[in-house]
Formats: sequence, C-alpha cells, structure tokens
Amino acid sequence: MRILKSGSKGPSVQLLQLALNRAGYGTLAKDGIIGSATAAAVSRFQRANGLLVDGIVGPDTHRALMPWYTGFLSYTVRRGDTLWQIAQKYGTSVFAIKTANPLVDPSNLAIGSSLLVPLGFPVVPTDIAYSSQLIGYCVRGLAARYPFISTGELGKSVMGRPLWYISMGMGENRVLYNASHHANEWITTPVLLKFAEELAYAYAAGEDIGGQSAAEIFDYASITLVPAVDPDGIDLVTGELTQGEFYSSAVKTAEQYPQLAFPSGWKANIRGVDLNLQYPAGWEQARENKAALGITSPAPADFVGREPLCAPEARAMYEFTRMLAPSLTLSYHTQGQVIYWKYLDLEPPMARSIAEAFSYASGYSVEDTPYASGFAGYKDWFIQDYDRPGYTIEAGIGENPLPISQFDEIYAHNRDLLTLAALVT
Ligand SMILES: [Zn+2]
Repeated sequence: MRILKSGSKGPSVQLLQLALNRAGYGTLAKDGIIGSATAAAVSRFQRANGLLVDGIVGPDTHRALMPWYTGFLSYTVRRGDTLWQIAQKYGTSVFAIKTANPLVDPSNLAIGSSLLVPLGFPVVPTDIAYSSQLIGYCVRGLAARYPFISTGELGKSVMGRPLWYISMGMGENRVLYNASHHANEWITTPVLLKFAEELAYAYAAGEDIGGQSAAEIFDYASITLVPAVDPDGIDLVTGELTQGEFYSSAVKTAEQYPQLAFPSGWKANIRGVDLNLQYPAGWEQARENKAALGITSPAPADFVGREPLCAPEARAMYEFTRMLAPSLTLSYHTQGQVIYWKYLDLEPPMARSIAEAFSYASGYSVEDTPYASGFAGYKDWFIQDYDRPGYTIEAGIGENPLPISQFDEIYAHNRDLLTLAALVT
C-alpha cells in the first residue's frame, strides 16, 4: 500500500477518507486529497488505536484500517459473549454474523474461537474512484461475508495485479459477466461488484433481486463475474499509478496522441494494447481497420497488439472462458446505453430476442455493432467460437470516463438485466 501523508492524492486517499468515515472518525469529504481535516482524523484514529500519532498512513495504520477497507474484522470470543452483544458492539446484525460463520452454534460460542464480524456498511463503495487495490478489498470482503461465494484469480495483469473472479450459484446454467476491458470505462467494475453484493445478500436473506427469487437463481444458474479485466489501466486512469517504469512508458505512448486527454483518454492495458481488440475473431480485419486510422503500435486506444491474445489479460479471459464454457456472456463497457448482440451473422437465432428482453429490462436500445468496431472483441470471439449469445452492454451516457456520480443511475438500469441474463439460456 502507498504511504499516504499530507498532500497525497488519488483513489487510495478517497478510500482512506471513506474508511475513516466508516470507522466514525469524521464526516470527511471524499475529495481524494489529504488536507488538514483528513490528517487530523488520521491522528485521532491513530491515538484511539494505540499507534504512533503522526498523521501519516504507513503500513501499521493501513493494517489497523483494514476492517474499514474490507468491511469485516476477526473477533475472538470472550467469556459471556453473545452474538447479539457482538453485533451491538460493531454496529452490525446477528444475521450478518451468522451468515459469515455458518458453522458456529450461536447458543454455544467457544471461548477463544474467532468469528468473522461483518461491519455495518456495504462492502462495495459506489461513490469513489476505483483502484486495483480496492477491487481486491471488495473481493475479500464479499468472500468473508458470504462464504457460499467462491473467488480467485484467473491470471495476472502486465503489472502482476490479480485478475479476480467471483462465482456464486449451484445451477448448471453457467454465465460469465465481465467489466473494464477498457481502462477508462472503470465505472462498470463497481456495477458488477455491487450486483455481486446484492445478489449474495438476497440469497443469504431469502429475498428477491430484480424481481426474481435469489434462491431460484442459485438453483438454476451459476454466475461468474470478472469485475476488472484491465486493473493496471484502471490505476492509470484514476490516478493511482503516477510513477515508475510502466507509468513513464504510458506517458511516452500518450505523447504521440496529444489530441487524447491523459490519463483520462486511456482505454488500453498498461502496454498500450486495446484488450477488446485482442481476440481471435477477425483480428486481422481489426488490424487493417485500425491501421487505416494510423494505429499500428502501442497507443492509448485502438492498438490491436502484435498478435491475438499477446496481452496477459486477454489471454487469461480467453483461457478462463474456455474452461467455463458459459452459455451466455455479458461484457460491460461505457457509454451509449445500447446493447450490441451481433457478430457478422454468426450469433444464434435466440440472440436477438434475448437482446430485446435485456432492452426491456434496462431501457437501453438494441443495436447492430458499427462496422469499424466489429472485430476482435471478446463478444465477437465468444459468438464465433461458441454459437451462443454474447452481448456488449454500453452503459451510461456522456464522455468516458463517466463520473462516479452516474453510478446509481447506471446500476438502476442494469440490475434487472444482470439478473435476467442468468435465466434466459
Ligand atoms: Zn469499451
């Protein structure tokens, strides 16, 4: 973790401010800059937690803040404890503790044993910028609260960041949703993470989601989410990555494209390969189309790479998809509020009517893919190789990167679609 001190900036400062607010040390504006109010809150937190009081967030302070980054802590049971008392102490519910500890007998807590205690706020933030680190905290936090979720890595990014997946459901209908193939479309990452959190909660609580019973969804389907295909690019776009070799080389690449804002115009992986132009489906055609636009080497967007699947992120998605062989895929991008459903004429007959159902659920419109962006995408490859329905959802509206203030509206449009997609095949 970065050491954060007076004047530090970026997504990890926003997360710090959120964590201090969650822990009750302030009502800080989550502006992503450590000013005097944030430094004072850090000092109060340090004093209360027996840490060296210097207002600087180093390894010890980060470690002490971890429960408010991930949304849970580990509690050692003492004589006389009840789940109700523990829940009161941490502002959470007996239900949440029971869900996180399915093997614990509430009427017979073993003294000295440890309990996972979910804290009284949602794991997934929806009002701050994302970093690869925050994605990892969300995955860990969800796995701790909902032990019926399985999580893991399908590979690593160029910079060695984990490419996470989250799976839930016991049904045979396997579906795979991914987000953030494009760095400056990172708002789609919390869309999938939030959906994972709501679906897991609904299942644990025996409730509905998107008008469907979560228990029935779990019986029928298993849903696997890859919330961020391009974590390095996300760190670049949101300002988490501001130094080092990879950063400098991205700056050099971007200097050749002065018409594109930097880093906000960056779509590619950290090496300047557009991950959604990496799949073996008309890749040579995509290369030709982009070369006609003058893009034949690493660029902030639209470079297809030297060969298909040369980027580790695209390769991992390809292998993981083949391993899972899903019946349907959704790929989240921004922006335009449209659903793309075709690749050439290779899509299966039901693809159009499913797209119409998604359109009805989301309010987004169904469109044919524009020719210039019609090749080498994940959806294109999935449709071509599997003859099964694959969709690109272009969420939200405006200029990328869409502001996080659009999150609630985007999520409201997509929750029912995400639910439905597990049930239509
Ligand atoms: Zn995109």
